[in-house]
Amino acid sequence: MLRCTSCGRMYSFDSPYQRCECGEPLELELFNGMYKKKGKRVWERFSEFFPLELDPELSLGEGDTPLTRAKKLSKELGIELYLKNETINPTWSFKDRGTYLGIHRAIQLDFRRIGTVSTGNMAASVAAYGAHSELEVYILVSSTIPEEKIKALAPYGAKIVKVHGDYGELYYRALEIGQKKGIYFINSDDPFRVEGYKSISFEISEEITPDYVIVPTSSGGLFRGIVKGFLEAKNSGLIEKLPRFFVVQAEGCSPICKAFNAGKEKIERFENPHTIAHAIENPYPPSGNAVLRLLKKLNGICTTVTDEEILEAQKILGREGIFVQLASATGIAAVKKLRRKGIIKEGAIVVSILTGSGLKTLRYIKQPKVEECSLQRLEECIG
Ligand SMILES: *Cc1c(COP(=O)(O)O)cnc(C)c1O
Ligand SMILES: [Zn+2]
Repeated sequence: MLRCTSCGRMYSFDSPYQRCECGEPLELELFNGMYKKKGKRVWERFSEFFPLELDPELSLGEGDTPLTRAKKLSKELGIELYLKNETINPTWSFKDRGTYLGIHRAIQLDFRRIGTVSTGNMAASVAAYGAHSELEVYILVSSTIPEEKIKALAPYGAKIVKVHGDYGELYYRALEIGQKKGIYFINSDDPFRVEGYKSISFEISEEITPDYVIVPTSSGGLFRGIVKGFLEAKNSGLIEKLPRFFVVQAEGCSPICKAFNAGKEKIERFENPHTIAHAIENPYPPSGNAVLRLLKKLNGICTTVTDEEILEAQKILGREGIFVQLASATGIAAVKKLRRKGIIKEGAIVVSILTGSGLKTLRYIKQPKVEECSLQRLEECIG
């Protein structure tokens, strides 16, 4: 059964329900069994935690990403800081974990056509998995999408439609049209996409029990998946306590933090959004209210960071050996801020989710200093 995250109304598993009549997103019920380790990949080790049987043939190798200790930053901040490196997924972002589950759902319901509404990472992910699974793929992009992001879709051969009009509304229109035309839209907070994201929490829980987990948040799908994953990890005896969850948003587009910090129960559309972290620039997130409910229930925190802080954090992460995109650097910018404010305690175990690779957005990177040298003088040049 699928349950409404707000009013609790239940929906049958046999139809492509994605949202409740009340307007809020649906989710699968919590898994309440015990954890029994078996198999190699996260999908095998946690197979009974997922609502359908997973087929390795549909996989492109997503998940089982490294959890790397940030040595310099840990020392500097007086905490144990771990980086969950999602940049190494098949299309270079965590979206692949959710797409893998979404593809299963589409096939289970006999859809031959899938789609998504995206400005970048999710589009590439759905296009790649659709190609791999021999499904027809429809990618709806906003009219402001930069050319380099459209080019990144070229290899997969999806049908790409640039839609002129309100981008927030496009999410809902796509679901409607999909129902009519038989296209399963694996959008940002599809219940099965959210299930896929749980795997991040399972992998972390197998290695450590964090005190804090920091999640860059746009639509809210990732945050919901991570929280649900930790709830299930605790229920199953894998960890003894839940971490405290932090949502981080870019200051220039922070509808969830704005509502949460004003004590509101509903988000409002964020007017004139503007940030360099485009992957998290959703002014009216479809799971915004669901994230508010989770933050309230679990004593979470919502924090914003400026474009300047994001750029600095991206550099710092590079010096730890990981090249992330700007949206993914927000977590580290937030850790620095929350540690400075004393909200993160000394010695705490902290995990920041590095959501996607920096190679996707090279145009934001400044040319580094390069020295010229002749072959004859090479020994001198090296110094
Ligand atoms: C999609 C995305 C996010 C935010 O995920 P949501 O599920 O939309 O909240 C964060 N960082 C990157 C790189 C993303 O692609
Ligand atoms: Zn409802």
